[in-house]
Amino acid sequence: MALDEYKRKRDFSKSPEPEGARARKSPAGRTPRFFCVQKHLASHLHYDFRLEHNGVLLSWAVPKGPSLDPSIKRLAMHVEDHPVEYGEFEGVIPSGYGAGIVMLWDKGLWTPEVDDVEAALKKGDLKFTLDGYKLKGSWVLVRTKGSGWSGGGDRSWLLIKHRDEWAGPVDIAEFAPLSVKSQGDFAEILSEDNPDVWRSNRPAKGGETGVMFEKIIARALEMRSGRAGRSGRSSRSERGEGSEPSDAQATVSRASRATKRTQKPRQQSSTSRTTRARSTPRKRAATRKGR
Ligand code: MN
Repeated sequence: MALDEYKRKRDFSKSPEPEGARARKSPAGRTPRFFCVQKHLASHLHYDFRLEHNGVLLSWAVPKGPSLDPSIKRLAMHVEDHPVEYGEFEGVIPSGYGAGIVMLWDKGLWTPEVDDVEAALKKGDLKFTLDGYKLKGSWVLVRTKGSGWSGGGDRSWLLIKHRDEWAGPVDIAEFAPLSVKSQGDFAEILSEDNPDVWRSNRPAKGGETGVMFEKIIARALEMRSGRAGRSGRSSRSERGEGSEPSDAQATVSRASRATKRTQKPRQQSSTSRTTRARSTPRKRAATRKGR
């Protein structure tokens, strides 16, 4: 079955990841179905791009994340299928395969722009439309070479944005870095779990990723002790989900809070957020042209 490789790589007694027991019948043809992007800080930071098809999530690891700029082609390594339940997963993988922090960075619906997804995958050219919080409009996944789709062959593809009203010279990973599930960053996700988990043995030591882990663990521990120091309030209200500012909120950097504000209203009032997302790439493009 399609999830064999997924299950073989993981020990579910040690990982909080879903085992994928529940089967799901996915829509066929040009019908919208689930997609997500999980930002995954493991041995290296990458973005896992997943499209629901035939009861599983087809998956590609995109090291630099998706780009809204049609002139930028992002490498996407085809990886093992994931269970559909995985699409809502966010949390900490303490050890083993993929050890690190998973953030649900974007989710929504994708619609194939072709009638036969199977044939498109075999051919190595899948065109589709995304309707997520951050990613929208028309995209394509193109295999770079070789003919292998399942097993063997070259696993490298390119993820490219098509030119449309949702394209623009915006670094979306930087502009909207937070979770669409918890609105948190990696440190907040870790602080909700167990920041002590990697005190001795980190998923990455040294290098850029090692430094990221060190900073994130330190901030998560700070948030945790800040919360433990007070009583009678839930961690949610302290994280500033209400309108009152809080100590915990103050530990979040100014920049990340600014972005959080732009991300949040999107789920609460889709109209204003849509207008904003829509106008930003265009406005910037216009500014650039005017120079
Ligand atoms: Mn991953």
